Amino acid sequence: MTSTHKSRRIWFCQTEYVAQHPESLQKLKDAVGLTTIMPESPVCHTSGFSASAELAQRGPFEDWRQRLDAWPRGAEGIYPPVAGIISGFDDAPLQRVIEACKSTGIEVWGHIGLWSYGGEVYPEFALRDLEGWPLDRRYQEWGIGLCPSRKAVNEWTRDCLVEVIQRYAIDGFDVDHARYPAPANVHSLMACGCANCQDEAVRLGYDFAAMRRGVLALRQRLGQLTVSEVRALAAGRPGLMDFFGLLAQDGAVLDWVQFRAHILAERMGEFRAAVQEAGGRDKVFGSDVFPASTGLLGGHWYGKWEEATDFLTGGSSHGGVVGWATGVTNLAREWTAALCRHAQGLDESEVLALVWRMFGVEDLDLPETAAGVVEGPLPIAALYEREVARLKAQTSGTVPLYPPLSAGAAPELVRALGEAVAVHGCDGCLFTVNAEDEAQVRILGEALAGVG
Ligand SMILES: [Zn+2]
Repeated sequence: MTSTHKSRRIWFCQTEYVAQHPESLQKLKDAVGLTTIMPESPVCHTSGFSASAELAQRGPFEDWRQRLDAWPRGAEGIYPPVAGIISGFDDAPLQRVIEACKSTGIEVWGHIGLWSYGGEVYPEFALRDLEGWPLDRRYQEWGIGLCPSRKAVNEWTRDCLVEVIQRYAIDGFDVDHARYPAPANVHSLMACGCANCQDEAVRLGYDFAAMRRGVLALRQRLGQLTVSEVRALAAGRPGLMDFFGLLAQDGAVLDWVQFRAHILAERMGEFRAAVQEAGGRDKVFGSDVFPASTGLLGGHWYGKWEEATDFLTGGSSHGGVVGWATGVTNLAREWTAALCRHAQGLDESEVLALVWRMFGVEDLDLPETAAGVVEGPLPIAALYEREVARLKAQTSGTVPLYPPLSAGAAPELVRALGEAVAVHGCDGCLFTVNAEDEAQVRILGEALAGVG
Protein backbone atom coordinates (compact mmCIF):
# COMPACT_ATOMS: atom_id res chain seq x y z
CA MET A 1 0.00 0.00 0.00
CA THR A 2 1.40 3.39 -0.95
CA SER A 3 1.38 5.86 1.90
CA THR A 4 -0.66 9.02 1.41
CA HIS A 5 1.09 10.79 4.26
CA LYS A 6 3.21 13.84 3.81
CA SER A 7 6.84 12.94 3.27
CA ARG A 8 9.05 14.92 5.61
CA ARG A 9 12.75 15.29 6.38
CA ILE A 10 12.82 17.04 9.73
CA TRP A 11 15.97 18.62 11.14
CA PHE A 12 16.27 18.48 14.93
CA CYS A 13 18.45 21.58 15.16
CA GLN A 14 19.71 24.22 17.57
CA THR A 15 17.74 27.46 17.55
CA GLU A 16 20.83 29.58 18.14
CA TYR A 17 22.77 27.94 15.30
CA VAL A 18 20.04 28.40 12.71
CA ALA A 19 19.47 32.00 13.85
CA GLN A 20 23.15 32.68 13.10
CA HIS A 21 23.26 30.53 9.96
CA PRO A 22 19.91 30.88 8.20
CA GLU A 23 21.62 29.85 4.94
CA SER A 24 21.86 26.32 6.36
CA LEU A 25 18.13 25.89 5.63
CA GLN A 26 18.45 26.29 1.85
CA LYS A 27 21.62 24.22 1.90
CA LEU A 28 19.85 21.27 3.58
CA LYS A 29 16.77 21.73 1.44
CA ASP A 30 18.96 21.25 -1.65
CA ALA A 31 21.16 18.50 -0.24
CA VAL A 32 18.76 16.30 1.75
CA GLY A 33 15.27 17.53 0.85
CA LEU A 34 14.68 19.36 4.14
CA THR A 35 10.97 20.11 4.68
CA THR A 36 10.69 20.90 8.38
CA ILE A 37 12.77 21.96 11.37
CA MET A 38 12.27 21.23 15.04
CA PRO A 39 14.51 23.78 16.77
CA GLU A 40 15.55 23.52 20.41
CA SER A 41 17.69 25.85 22.49
CA PRO A 42 20.09 23.93 24.74
CA VAL A 43 19.75 26.77 27.25
CA CYS A 44 15.99 26.79 27.86
CA HIS A 45 15.02 23.34 26.40
CA THR A 46 12.19 24.79 24.33
CA SER A 47 12.46 26.22 20.82
CA GLY A 48 13.25 29.49 22.59
CA PHE A 49 9.79 30.74 23.42
CA SER A 50 9.21 33.58 25.86
CA ALA A 51 6.25 33.37 28.23
CA SER A 52 3.75 36.16 28.83
CA ALA A 53 3.64 37.79 32.27
CA GLU A 54 0.29 36.12 32.87
CA LEU A 55 1.66 32.61 32.19
CA ALA A 56 4.84 33.26 34.15
CA GLN A 57 2.84 34.43 37.12
CA ARG A 58 1.09 31.02 37.24
CA GLY A 59 4.20 29.00 36.31
CA PRO A 60 5.06 26.20 38.76
CA PHE A 61 8.77 26.16 37.84
CA GLU A 62 9.68 29.85 37.99
CA ASP A 63 11.82 29.59 41.14
CA TRP A 64 14.48 27.30 39.61
CA ARG A 65 17.26 29.83 40.27
CA GLN A 66 16.66 29.27 43.97
CA ARG A 67 17.10 25.50 43.57
CA LEU A 68 20.73 25.29 42.47
CA ASP A 69 21.45 22.56 45.05
CA ALA A 70 19.08 20.30 43.12
CA TRP A 71 19.95 21.77 39.71
CA PRO A 72 23.67 22.72 39.67
CA ARG A 73 23.64 23.55 35.93
CA GLY A 74 21.36 26.44 36.82
CA ALA A 75 24.52 28.26 37.94
CA GLU A 76 25.54 28.40 34.24
CA GLY A 77 22.12 29.79 33.31
CA ILE A 78 20.85 26.45 31.95
CA TYR A 79 17.13 26.02 32.61
CA PRO A 80 15.93 22.76 34.17
CA PRO A 81 14.12 20.40 31.76
CA VAL A 82 10.54 20.52 33.03
CA ALA A 83 7.07 20.78 31.52
CA GLY A 84 5.89 23.93 29.75
CA ILE A 85 7.69 27.26 29.40
CA ILE A 86 9.74 29.06 32.04
CA SER A 87 9.81 32.83 31.60
CA GLY A 88 12.81 35.10 31.05
CA PHE A 89 14.12 33.75 27.74
CA ASP A 90 14.73 36.15 24.84
CA ASP A 91 12.82 34.87 21.80
CA ALA A 92 14.64 37.06 19.23
CA PRO A 93 16.75 34.14 17.87
CA LEU A 94 13.64 31.98 17.43
CA GLN A 95 11.85 34.81 15.63
CA ARG A 96 14.78 35.07 13.23
CA VAL A 97 14.60 31.30 12.64
CA ILE A 98 10.86 31.44 11.93
CA GLU A 99 11.39 34.33 9.47
CA ALA A 100 14.15 32.42 7.67
CA CYS A 101 11.95 29.32 7.41
CA LYS A 102 9.07 31.29 5.94
CA SER A 103 11.28 32.72 3.21
CA THR A 104 12.77 29.28 2.44
CA GLY A 105 9.48 27.36 2.45
CA ILE A 106 10.36 25.24 5.49
CA GLU A 107 7.88 24.22 8.21
CA VAL A 108 8.65 24.94 11.88
CA TRP A 109 7.61 22.53 14.62
CA GLY A 110 7.74 23.98 18.12
CA HIS A 111 9.44 22.09 20.90
CA ILE A 112 8.64 22.05 24.60
CA GLY A 113 9.20 19.41 27.28
CA LEU A 114 6.67 17.47 29.36
CA TRP A 115 7.20 14.88 32.13
CA SER A 116 10.23 12.60 31.95
CA TYR A 117 12.74 14.89 33.70
CA GLY A 118 12.81 17.47 36.46
CA GLY A 119 11.52 15.39 39.37
CA GLU A 120 14.80 15.84 41.23
CA VAL A 121 14.45 19.64 41.01
CA TYR A 122 10.70 19.69 41.77
CA PRO A 123 10.09 16.77 44.18
CA GLU A 124 6.67 18.18 45.01
CA PHE A 125 5.57 17.31 41.44
CA ALA A 126 7.73 14.19 40.99
CA LEU A 127 6.78 10.59 40.27
CA ARG A 128 6.17 8.39 43.32
CA ASP A 129 6.38 4.63 43.31
CA LEU A 130 3.54 2.33 44.37
CA GLU A 131 4.63 2.61 47.99
CA GLY A 132 4.85 6.39 47.90
CA TRP A 133 8.64 6.67 47.64
CA PRO A 134 10.50 9.07 45.35
CA LEU A 135 12.55 7.45 42.57
CA ASP A 136 15.99 6.02 43.36
CA ARG A 137 18.68 8.48 42.23
CA ARG A 138 20.80 5.51 41.18
CA TYR A 139 18.92 5.70 37.87
CA GLN A 140 19.11 9.45 37.41
CA GLU A 141 20.84 9.25 34.01
CA TRP A 142 17.55 7.85 32.60
CA GLY A 143 15.44 10.64 34.09
CA ILE A 144 13.71 11.34 37.39
CA GLY A 145 10.31 12.32 36.07
CA LEU A 146 7.31 14.44 36.92
CA CYS A 147 3.89 12.92 37.65
CA PRO A 148 1.67 13.12 34.53
CA SER A 149 -1.56 13.48 36.54
CA ARG A 150 -1.03 16.85 38.25
CA LYS A 151 -4.01 18.77 36.98
CA ALA A 152 -2.62 22.22 37.75
CA VAL A 153 0.69 21.54 35.98
CA ASN A 154 -1.02 19.96 32.98
CA GLU A 155 -3.57 22.75 32.57
CA TRP A 156 -0.83 25.36 32.78
CA THR A 157 1.25 23.40 30.23
CA ARG A 158 -1.78 23.29 27.93
CA ASP A 159 -2.10 27.08 28.29
CA CYS A 160 1.60 27.41 27.35
CA LEU A 161 0.97 25.42 24.15
CA VAL A 162 -2.09 27.53 23.32
CA GLU A 163 -0.23 30.79 23.91
CA VAL A 164 2.65 29.67 21.68
CA ILE A 165 0.43 28.58 18.80
CA GLN A 166 -1.30 31.97 18.92
CA ARG A 167 1.84 34.11 19.26
CA TYR A 168 4.34 32.38 16.98
CA ALA A 169 4.02 31.57 13.27
CA ILE A 170 4.76 27.86 13.68
CA ASP A 171 3.15 24.88 11.97
CA GLY A 172 2.64 22.65 15.00
CA PHE A 173 4.50 20.94 17.82
CA ASP A 174 6.89 18.05 18.24
CA VAL A 175 6.87 17.90 22.04
CA ASP A 176 9.66 16.24 23.98
CA HIS A 177 9.76 14.17 27.18
CA ALA A 178 6.16 13.03 26.56
CA ARG A 179 6.96 9.87 28.45
CA TYR A 180 8.09 8.30 31.68
CA PRO A 181 11.82 7.95 32.34
CA ALA A 182 13.45 5.39 30.03
CA PRO A 183 12.56 1.84 31.18
CA ALA A 184 16.26 1.32 31.95
CA ASN A 185 15.25 3.26 35.08
CA VAL A 186 14.01 0.13 36.84
CA HIS A 187 12.42 2.00 39.71
CA SER A 188 10.38 4.28 37.43
CA LEU A 189 8.48 1.21 36.18
CA MET A 190 6.74 1.22 39.57
CA ALA A 191 5.57 4.83 39.17
CA CYS A 192 3.45 6.78 39.38
CA GLY A 193 1.45 5.58 42.34
CA CYS A 194 0.47 8.99 43.78
CA ALA A 195 -3.07 9.94 44.78
CA ASN A 196 -3.60 11.86 41.51
CA CYS A 197 -2.67 8.81 39.44
CA GLN A 198 -4.96 6.65 41.58
CA ASP A 199 -7.80 9.01 40.69
CA GLU A 200 -6.88 8.68 37.03
CA ALA A 201 -7.00 4.88 37.33
CA VAL A 202 -10.57 5.09 38.62
CA ARG A 203 -11.55 7.49 35.85
CA LEU A 204 -10.04 5.24 33.14
CA GLY A 205 -11.58 2.06 34.59
CA TYR A 206 -8.52 0.33 36.09
CA ASP A 207 -8.43 -1.45 39.45
CA PHE A 208 -5.59 0.41 41.14
CA ALA A 209 -5.44 -1.77 44.27
CA ALA A 210 -5.16 -4.92 42.14
CA MET A 211 -2.42 -3.41 39.97
CA ARG A 212 -0.50 -2.35 43.07
CA ARG A 213 -0.78 -5.83 44.60
CA GLY A 214 0.26 -7.50 41.34
CA VAL A 215 3.32 -5.29 40.76
CA LEU A 216 4.55 -5.60 44.35
CA ALA A 217 4.09 -9.37 44.21
CA LEU A 218 6.09 -9.51 40.96
CA ARG A 219 8.90 -7.50 42.54
CA GLN A 220 8.98 -9.94 45.44
CA ARG A 221 9.09 -12.95 43.13
CA LEU A 222 11.90 -11.48 41.04
CA GLY A 223 13.87 -10.80 44.22
CA GLN A 224 13.62 -14.50 45.06
CA LEU A 225 14.52 -15.76 41.58
CA THR A 226 17.02 -18.63 41.78
CA VAL A 227 19.72 -19.70 39.41
CA SER A 228 17.89 -22.97 38.71
CA GLU A 229 14.70 -21.06 37.83
CA VAL A 230 16.64 -18.89 35.39
CA ARG A 231 18.13 -22.04 33.82
CA ALA A 232 14.76 -23.76 33.66
CA LEU A 233 13.32 -20.73 31.91
CA ALA A 234 16.22 -20.51 29.46
CA ALA A 235 16.03 -24.27 28.71
CA GLY A 236 12.48 -23.76 27.45
CA ARG A 237 13.66 -21.09 24.98
CA PRO A 238 10.70 -18.98 26.03
CA GLY A 239 8.53 -16.96 23.69
CA LEU A 240 6.54 -13.88 24.54
CA MET A 241 3.59 -15.81 25.98
CA ASP A 242 5.91 -17.64 28.38
CA PHE A 243 7.09 -14.31 29.71
CA PHE A 244 3.53 -13.07 30.02
CA GLY A 245 2.75 -16.18 32.03
CA LEU A 246 5.73 -15.58 34.27
CA LEU A 247 5.23 -11.86 34.72
CA ALA A 248 1.52 -11.50 35.03
CA GLN A 249 -0.19 -14.41 36.67
CA ASP A 250 -3.28 -12.42 37.46
CA GLY A 251 -3.14 -9.91 34.61
CA ALA A 252 -2.61 -6.99 36.97
CA VAL A 253 0.97 -6.34 35.85
CA LEU A 254 -0.10 -6.05 32.23
CA ASP A 255 -2.91 -3.73 33.31
CA TRP A 256 -0.35 -1.58 35.12
CA VAL A 257 1.87 -1.28 32.04
CA GLN A 258 -1.12 -0.36 29.93
CA PHE A 259 -2.54 2.04 32.50
CA ARG A 260 0.69 4.06 32.72
CA ALA A 261 0.70 4.49 28.96
CA HIS A 262 -3.02 5.21 28.83
CA ILE A 263 -2.62 8.26 31.09
CA LEU A 264 0.00 9.81 28.80
CA ALA A 265 -2.06 9.25 25.65
CA GLU A 266 -5.03 10.92 27.35
CA ARG A 267 -2.93 14.01 28.10
CA MET A 268 -1.58 14.13 24.54
CA GLY A 269 -5.10 14.02 23.12
CA GLU A 270 -6.13 16.88 25.38
CA PHE A 271 -3.11 18.96 24.41
CA ARG A 272 -3.69 18.39 20.70
CA ALA A 273 -7.36 19.35 20.99
CA ALA A 274 -6.42 22.61 22.75
CA VAL A 275 -3.69 23.46 20.20
CA GLN A 276 -5.95 22.82 17.23
CA GLU A 277 -8.88 24.68 18.74
CA ALA A 278 -6.65 27.72 19.23
CA GLY A 279 -4.49 27.45 16.11
CA GLY A 280 -6.57 25.56 13.57
CA ARG A 281 -6.90 21.94 12.47
CA ASP A 282 -3.83 22.22 10.25
CA LYS A 283 -1.48 22.61 13.23
CA VAL A 284 0.09 19.19 13.78
CA PHE A 285 0.83 17.81 17.22
CA GLY A 286 3.06 14.86 18.03
CA SER A 287 6.13 13.74 19.92
CA ASP A 288 9.13 11.50 19.85
CA VAL A 289 8.46 7.99 21.13
CA PHE A 290 10.59 5.23 22.57
CA PRO A 291 11.48 2.42 20.15
CA ALA A 292 8.87 -0.27 19.64
CA SER A 293 10.55 -2.99 21.74
CA THR A 294 10.51 -0.92 24.92
CA GLY A 295 7.92 1.73 24.05
CA LEU A 296 5.01 0.45 26.10
CA LEU A 297 7.22 0.14 29.18
CA GLY A 298 8.20 3.80 28.81
CA GLY A 299 4.60 4.95 28.40
CA HIS A 300 4.10 4.75 24.64
CA TRP A 301 1.13 2.68 23.61
CA TYR A 302 1.49 3.14 19.86
CA GLY A 303 -2.18 2.46 19.10
CA LYS A 304 -3.37 5.11 21.54
CA TRP A 305 -0.60 7.47 20.39
CA GLU A 306 -1.88 7.19 16.83
CA GLU A 307 -5.31 8.28 18.06
CA ALA A 308 -3.97 11.17 20.15
CA THR A 309 -1.26 12.63 17.89
CA ASP A 310 -0.54 13.43 14.23
CA PHE A 311 2.79 11.63 13.73
CA LEU A 312 5.33 9.41 15.46
CA THR A 313 9.00 10.25 15.55
CA GLY A 314 12.00 9.54 17.78
CA GLY A 315 14.77 11.36 19.60
CA SER A 316 17.89 9.71 18.11
CA SER A 317 18.74 6.56 16.18
CA HIS A 318 21.37 5.50 18.69
CA GLY A 319 22.94 6.94 21.80
CA GLY A 320 21.44 8.90 24.66
CA VAL A 321 18.34 8.18 26.68
CA VAL A 322 16.06 7.99 23.64
CA GLY A 323 18.31 6.17 21.16
CA TRP A 324 16.22 3.63 19.27
CA ALA A 325 19.01 1.10 18.69
CA THR A 326 20.10 1.30 22.32
CA GLY A 327 16.69 1.24 24.03
CA VAL A 328 16.90 -2.52 24.52
CA THR A 329 20.60 -2.60 25.37
CA ASN A 330 20.34 0.12 28.03
CA LEU A 331 17.35 -1.62 29.56
CA ALA A 332 19.06 -5.02 29.43
CA ARG A 333 22.10 -3.95 31.38
CA GLU A 334 20.12 -2.12 34.07
CA TRP A 335 17.55 -4.91 34.45
CA THR A 336 20.27 -7.55 34.60
CA ALA A 337 22.23 -5.61 37.20
CA ALA A 338 19.10 -5.01 39.30
CA LEU A 339 18.07 -8.68 39.21
CA CYS A 340 21.56 -9.84 40.16
CA ARG A 341 21.65 -7.32 43.04
CA HIS A 342 18.35 -8.44 44.51
CA ALA A 343 18.28 -12.20 43.87
CA GLN A 344 21.11 -14.24 45.33
CA GLY A 345 23.55 -16.29 43.27
CA LEU A 346 22.36 -15.50 39.75
CA ASP A 347 24.75 -15.68 36.83
CA GLU A 348 24.86 -12.33 35.06
CA SER A 349 25.40 -13.78 31.58
CA GLU A 350 22.48 -16.18 31.96
CA VAL A 351 20.17 -13.38 33.07
CA LEU A 352 21.35 -11.10 30.26
CA ALA A 353 20.75 -13.85 27.69
CA LEU A 354 17.21 -14.21 29.03
CA VAL A 355 16.60 -10.47 28.70
CA TRP A 356 17.84 -10.51 25.09
CA ARG A 357 15.36 -13.33 24.44
CA MET A 358 12.53 -11.55 26.24
CA PHE A 359 12.91 -8.59 23.87
CA GLY A 360 13.36 -10.71 20.76
CA VAL A 361 16.93 -9.74 19.89
CA GLU A 362 18.71 -12.93 20.97
CA ASP A 363 19.65 -13.72 17.35
CA LEU A 364 21.76 -10.54 17.03
CA ASP A 365 25.45 -10.35 17.83
CA LEU A 366 25.06 -8.91 21.35
CA PRO A 367 27.48 -8.81 24.33
CA GLU A 368 27.37 -11.54 26.95
CA THR A 369 28.07 -9.29 29.95
CA ALA A 370 26.65 -6.02 31.27
CA ALA A 371 30.15 -4.49 31.05
CA GLY A 372 30.27 -5.57 27.42
CA VAL A 373 27.03 -3.69 26.78
CA VAL A 374 28.65 -0.50 28.09
CA GLU A 375 31.94 -1.02 26.23
CA GLY A 376 30.45 -2.22 22.94
CA PRO A 377 30.64 -2.55 20.09
CA LEU A 378 26.90 -3.06 19.60
CA PRO A 379 25.20 -4.12 16.35
CA ILE A 380 23.60 -0.69 16.00
CA ALA A 381 22.39 -1.06 12.40
CA ALA A 382 20.70 -4.41 13.10
CA LEU A 383 19.10 -3.21 16.35
CA TYR A 384 17.81 -0.08 14.64
CA GLU A 385 16.47 -1.99 11.66
CA ARG A 386 14.54 -4.26 14.02
CA GLU A 387 12.99 -1.29 15.81
CA VAL A 388 11.90 0.33 12.56
CA ALA A 389 10.42 -2.98 11.37
CA ARG A 390 8.49 -3.27 14.64
CA LEU A 391 7.34 0.34 14.45
CA LYS A 392 5.85 -0.34 11.03
CA ALA A 393 4.29 -3.63 12.13
CA GLN A 394 2.80 -2.23 15.36
CA THR A 395 1.13 0.82 13.82
CA SER A 396 -1.96 0.99 11.68
CA GLY A 397 -0.85 3.52 9.06
CA THR A 398 -3.19 6.26 10.26
CA VAL A 399 -0.34 8.67 11.05
CA PRO A 400 3.01 9.19 9.33
CA LEU A 401 6.17 7.62 10.77
CA TYR A 402 9.38 9.64 10.95
CA PRO A 403 12.05 7.52 12.71
CA PRO A 404 15.09 9.32 14.12
CA LEU A 405 18.38 9.29 12.22
CA SER A 406 21.62 10.61 13.69
CA ALA A 407 23.88 11.50 10.76
CA GLY A 408 27.02 12.09 12.84
CA ALA A 409 27.95 8.40 12.68
CA ALA A 410 30.25 6.47 10.35
CA PRO A 411 29.09 6.73 6.70
CA GLU A 412 28.29 3.03 6.33
CA LEU A 413 26.13 3.17 9.46
CA VAL A 414 24.27 6.28 8.26
CA ARG A 415 23.57 4.54 4.95
CA ALA A 416 22.28 1.46 6.81
CA LEU A 417 19.98 3.61 8.98
CA GLY A 418 18.58 5.34 5.90
CA GLU A 419 18.04 2.01 4.19
CA ALA A 420 16.06 0.69 7.18
CA VAL A 421 13.77 3.73 7.03
CA ALA A 422 13.27 3.26 3.28
CA VAL A 423 12.83 -0.53 3.29
CA HIS A 424 10.11 -0.41 5.92
CA GLY A 425 8.14 2.23 4.09
CA CYS A 426 8.36 5.08 6.58
CA ASP A 427 7.29 8.56 5.56
CA GLY A 428 10.61 10.30 6.14
CA CYS A 429 12.77 10.86 9.18
CA LEU A 430 13.82 13.28 11.86
CA PHE A 431 17.57 13.76 11.65
CA THR A 432 20.44 15.44 13.41
CA VAL A 433 23.38 16.60 11.29
CA ASN A 434 26.30 18.98 11.48
CA ALA A 435 25.30 21.32 8.65
CA GLU A 436 28.90 22.60 8.38
CA ASP A 437 30.31 19.14 7.68
CA GLU A 438 30.04 18.81 3.90
CA ALA A 439 30.75 15.06 3.87
CA GLN A 440 28.16 14.38 6.58
CA VAL A 441 25.51 16.37 4.69
CA ARG A 442 26.31 14.60 1.43
CA ILE A 443 26.16 11.13 2.99
CA LEU A 444 22.85 11.97 4.70
CA GLY A 445 21.45 13.02 1.32
CA GLU A 446 22.59 9.72 -0.21
CA ALA A 447 21.22 7.74 2.74
CA LEU A 448 17.80 9.34 2.35
CA ALA A 449 17.62 8.99 -1.43
CA GLY A 450 15.18 6.07 -1.21
CA VAL A 451 13.09 7.40 1.70
CA GLY A 452 9.46 8.55 1.58
ZN1 LIG B 1 1.16 10.52 39.92
